Amino acid sequence: MRLSRYFLPVLKENPSEAQIVSHRLMLRAGMIKQSSAGIYSWLPMGFKVLRKLENIVHEEQVRAGHIPMLMPTLQSADLWRESGRYDDYGQEMLRIKDRHDRDMLYGPTNEELITDIFRSHIGSYKDLPLTLYHIQWKFRDEIRPRFGVMRGREFFMKDGYNFDLTKEDALHAYNRHLVTYLRTYERMGLQAIPMRADSGPIGGDNTHEFLVLADTGESEVFYDSAVTDLTFGDREIDYDSVEQCQSVLEEFTSKYARTDETHDEALFNAIPEDRRRVARGIEVGQIFYFGTKYSEAMNAVVQGPDGKQVPVHMGSHGIGVSRLVGAIIEASHDDNGIIWPEGVTPYHCGIVNLKQGDAEADAACDALYASLTALGLEPLYDDRNERAGGKFATMDLIGLPWRITVGPRGLKNGVVELTSRRTGESEELPPEEAVKKVAEIYAGL
Ligand code: ATP
Ligand code: MG
Repeated sequence: MRLSRYFLPVLKENPSEAQIVSHRLMLRAGMIKQSSAGIYSWLPMGFKVLRKLENIVHEEQVRAGHIPMLMPTLQSADLWRESGRYDDYGQEMLRIKDRHDRDMLYGPTNEELITDIFRSHIGSYKDLPLTLYHIQWKFRDEIRPRFGVMRGREFFMKDGYNFDLTKEDALHAYNRHLVTYLRTYERMGLQAIPMRADSGPIGGDNTHEFLVLADTGESEVFYDSAVTDLTFGDREIDYDSVEQCQSVLEEFTSKYARTDETHDEALFNAIPEDRRRVARGIEVGQIFYFGTKYSEAMNAVVQGPDGKQVPVHMGSHGIGVSRLVGAIIEASHDDNGIIWPEGVTPYHCGIVNLKQGDAEADAACDALYASLTALGLEPLYDDRNERAGGKFATMDLIGLPWRITVGPRGLKNGVVELTSRRTGESEELPPEEAVKKVAEIYAGL
């Protein structure tokens, strides 16, 4: 993409409405624009990051055998009356009437709708196990929408639902989701720690929230610092293996890590004092096993091997895709702007032309652009007639992890400059070497 043809409405001033850095930077970097309280338009740069996160979530879900689909945003109130949640959900639910005076709602989550789909088509244990998911906009009329996309009213969420014959099978599905989530967040350059959580209005006893540590997080968390040493890395997992998924769960959840809702002072104090941490975190996902709560209320039963009809065991598993954009920025920025992890960056590499209009510099930039593109990478080329200082400030603000700077002086010596956004370190090298290096960095991501 050439910046001269793009739509990147960068703000020079700090917007006064933004209280936290991710909100401020998303507005300044032209990623979002508020349309009303807690509701945002995703401008091209923001949309690109959102799509990257969505793709990572899809890839990791499909890898585990989970099946993507798409359910609507608007739902009929009748299903929610069946489960009893129409009245329970309270004012967070946006209720709407259609022209025939029928009660509708903008879905805050999808347990009822998916259970209805399941019961309409599945009647035998032979069709289990089954995990269906979608990534769709949700609406919750939050009492205090704030922090930009972190606590919006309309937000983008992956929600997946497992259907199993037995509790044992459903717990395997739970563990399998935990594994997929660990991989997902790591690919986004994040450490998200599974913490034992409270099950809230959905009900059930097995639930973990995934938290990214950040001072601006809304949850208070208590943990053994040893949990922050754990990484999933590039290990291969057989998602059908009960033992493998179980052992990952044990490895990542046996150390003390809890939110304030489930915090236990006595257990916490049993951790060696130098490893006790009290901090804040951003909830970026949650997994639940809730058994037969919905299948019983909504009569989602299957015929078991013994011929008897039994309600299926279910769980639901969410990832806050739009909140993650903010969470990644909270975890990765400096005074000059965003620093995107390579796995989620909107463009792989910036190209800054120090002397636009200079025939040689222009040609070198065009050649770099063509080589990077030919390798399947997406460069963002600042080809505007601007001062170098302004171009650097924009690149730093939008946070592309790598920048190639091209100027007449370097070209005389046959070199361009490759700069890391994270470390600020630069290296001079021939243009083709710079391209090779950038390609190597992204190989396998
Ligand atoms: P919270 O406690 O933050 O209100 P929740 O526990 O009610 O969230 P879940 O039902 O677990 O939310 O939804 C799954 C994920 O969706 C959450 O882990 C979070 O990342 C994201 N999410 C929930 N509410 C919002 C919101 N208002 N804005 C943006 N993302 C949200
Ligand atoms: Mg939650």
